[in-house]
Amino acid sequence: SLPNSRDAALLARAQRVVPNGVWGHMATRAIGPGYPQFFARSEGCRVWDVDGNGYIDFMCAWGPNVLGYHHPDVDAAAMAQLKDADIGNGPTEAMVELAELLTETVDHADWAMFQKNGTDATTACVTIARAATGRRKILVARGAYHGAVPWCSPSLVGVTAEDRAHLITFDFNDTASLDQAVAAAGNDLAGILLAAFRHDVGRDQELPDAAFLQHARAVCDRTGAALIVDEVRAGFRLDVRGSWAPYGVKPDLAAYSKAIANGWPLAAVAGSERMREGAGKIFVTGSFWYGAAAMAAGVKTIEILRDSDALAHTEAMGLRFREGLDAAARQHGFRLRQTGPAQMPMVLFDGDKELQIANAFCSAALRHGVYMHPKHNLFLCAAHQPADIDRALEGAEEAMKEIAALGLQPA
Ligand code: PMP
Repeated sequence: SLPNSRDAALLARAQRVVPNGVWGHMATRAIGPGYPQFFARSEGCRVWDVDGNGYIDFMCAWGPNVLGYHHPDVDAAAMAQLKDADIGNGPTEAMVELAELLTETVDHADWAMFQKNGTDATTACVTIARAATGRRKILVARGAYHGAVPWCSPSLVGVTAEDRAHLITFDFNDTASLDQAVAAAGNDLAGILLAAFRHDVGRDQELPDAAFLQHARAVCDRTGAALIVDEVRAGFRLDVRGSWAPYGVKPDLAAYSKAIANGWPLAAVAGSERMREGAGKIFVTGSFWYGAAAMAAGVKTIEILRDSDALAHTEAMGLRFREGLDAAARQHGFRLRQTGPAQMPMVLFDGDKELQIANAFCSAALRHGVYMHPKHNLFLCAAHQPADIDRALEGAEEAMKEIAALGLQPA
């Protein structure tokens, strides 16, 4: 097993001064046995925990790492801006540059506004949709994650029914259920909020159905409601023009964060002309939202993603990983269900109802230096090279062998 004495000591210290020690989805008690909680270093596609154990990383900070940790050009751009001005009495030129670049790059965007976290951006989109339409109802897909404030948090603890009073749910990719929700909203429909693709925790991922997206677009055109895409997880990992560009469907509002500045703290709302006035009417701000270093990092990240083969490379690495995992699983009597884009795959075991196999596999993979997640989609980045994938596959194969030897088999 892995040495983890510093990790255990830090967690004990944290538990005295932070409720539960660590909060939210990165609390490893919610992931599985053996996961280190505290990290000391990261580089490229690798992370090291505080006990010095190194891992080939397939979580990529849960999305922000798209080009590799410590990408030299991105970090240089941010550090240069940091030396001049970062947080101040207003924005710097970097905000204008970033908005210009974003509107040139994202196919539906005529304007942009910036925030820090994904939740800031999704919440702003909902507020803008209501401001633009003067209506209240927002349609959201069952099981989708859009952030961690009362209107959208997956937990109801500390949340009131009133916080959710104007949400109506439907099922992703299900046109009939969307139509029911639209009917229930009546003439109070402000917006339809959809993830870029279905990436709910613990279930097979689903790409959007072109006909479903077109239908949602048509509903919004007919009613004047806003079509909102939550690009927080998928944005700038699949397609710099926007994740729906290949489908030819343009949203009115898109929420970005995570990968947009390769790990520097930044979020964005990108909107179309018909939402500009509503966006100009709402009051949104934050002490750090005009931070210029993250914006400079965003400019450099988007330029690199636009001008290089980083995303195509990442997809190729994802496919190599997918094929290797599949072969390793079969060799040891398991069947995987690998769904969604190869750059952000969901890897589940067939017949693994309680996730026992996935938990055992991920813990074993961890001991062989491969950091995965048993029920959340994984992330690849442009720093993954064939040798890293192959090394990770060796670890994964050892892990498959070990769980087969434990007698863990599909139900
Ligand atoms: N939407 C989606 C699809 C996400 O994956 C996330 C973060 N996991 C969020 C919104 C919220 O982003 P943040 O945690 O940065 O507030």
